[in-house]
Amino acid sequence: MKIQAAVSHEGARYPQIEALDIEEPRAGEILVRIVASGICHTDIGVSGRPGPRPFVLGHEGAGVVERIGAGVTELAPGDHVVLSVNFCGECPSCKRNAHSYCYEVLPRNFGGLRPDGTSPLSKDGQRVFARFFGQSSFAQYSLADARCAIKVPSDIPLEILAPLGCGVQTGAGAIVHSLQVGPGDSVAIFGAGSVGLSAVMAARLVGAERIIAVDLVPSRLALAKELGATDTIDASNDADAAKTIRDLTRYGVSHAFNTANAPISYTQSLQCLAPRGVAGFVAPPNGQFVPDMFHLLSGGRSLRGILGGDTTPSLFIPMLIDYYRQGRFPFDRLIKYYPFSEIAQAFEDSSAGRAIKPVLRMPS
Ligand SMILES: [Zn+2]
Ligand SMILES: [Zn+2]
Repeated sequence: MKIQAAVSHEGARYPQIEALDIEEPRAGEILVRIVASGICHTDIGVSGRPGPRPFVLGHEGAGVVERIGAGVTELAPGDHVVLSVNFCGECPSCKRNAHSYCYEVLPRNFGGLRPDGTSPLSKDGQRVFARFFGQSSFAQYSLADARCAIKVPSDIPLEILAPLGCGVQTGAGAIVHSLQVGPGDSVAIFGAGSVGLSAVMAARLVGAERIIAVDLVPSRLALAKELGATDTIDASNDADAAKTIRDLTRYGVSHAFNTANAPISYTQSLQCLAPRGVAGFVAPPNGQFVPDMFHLLSGGRSLRGILGGDTTPSLFIPMLIDYYRQGRFPFDRLIKYYPFSEIAQAFEDSSAGRAIKPVLRMPS
């Protein structure tokens, strides 16, 4: 079948839309008509770095199951699905439902091929890398690993649900599962993008007493306040956000969650911690960062990496949808829509901070 897909090429700044061929589903796969796909910073980062090419990225797909391959028993044509992270299902992490720490997380999500070395996409008979996060959702259709698909209710538009697959789930999961923030806790959230603002909403949901959002953009801080932040810090005119956080909380916060990649954010996310505090982060720093080991040691503080918010997507995504229905998790406020044809503009707006969560609407 011929489809339109956005293809990332070596040296090109943005993906370009081309006609590709897509295979029929093999065992364990589903063909999904993509209705919408979020754009995540991981797409932009991978698109700008050397790697498998040509490659169809996209890992926040939402759509309708069209056909299923052999052995797929939990999904049927017509089901609405959100696509999330891919995993092997058999390694020690997967057996403990810690899918984002699957021992095969890199090849299964970033390798561009099925485990048997084939790809479901081609152009004029030449292989095009696919299966990004098991899905490659920057396309009209995705031949996804059925493990990535989370069945969702059909009465909520898929274009709203798309970002649940990665960014929103990561931010909310980091608070609920990774850091286990609870009533009476205080949390500082660095970066008020889609991951950080999802964390703000989740921190309010779990009853955190103090939710401090730190960002450089006043409009994002204003939104953080509307979504549940008790305090905001504009780091563009506050050189020592960590000190301000300590001043606000007397001893510092019990938890910090760093969604930014500037080295200063890592330093400050540790410096603002009270004794026994934990700082989580979701991306590597884009420069040198040396943790203050004495500060970590002297207060029993810790720094931990977080992927996917430590969630089990098949449980967590339906839960977030319930909270959304109740008006307690309004993640749709982060979304800005673009037609698929404007994917380059959406990449640009996301990089420049003009769009918090760009979502592409696919042509049907
Ligand atoms: Zn695994
Ligand atoms: Zn992502």
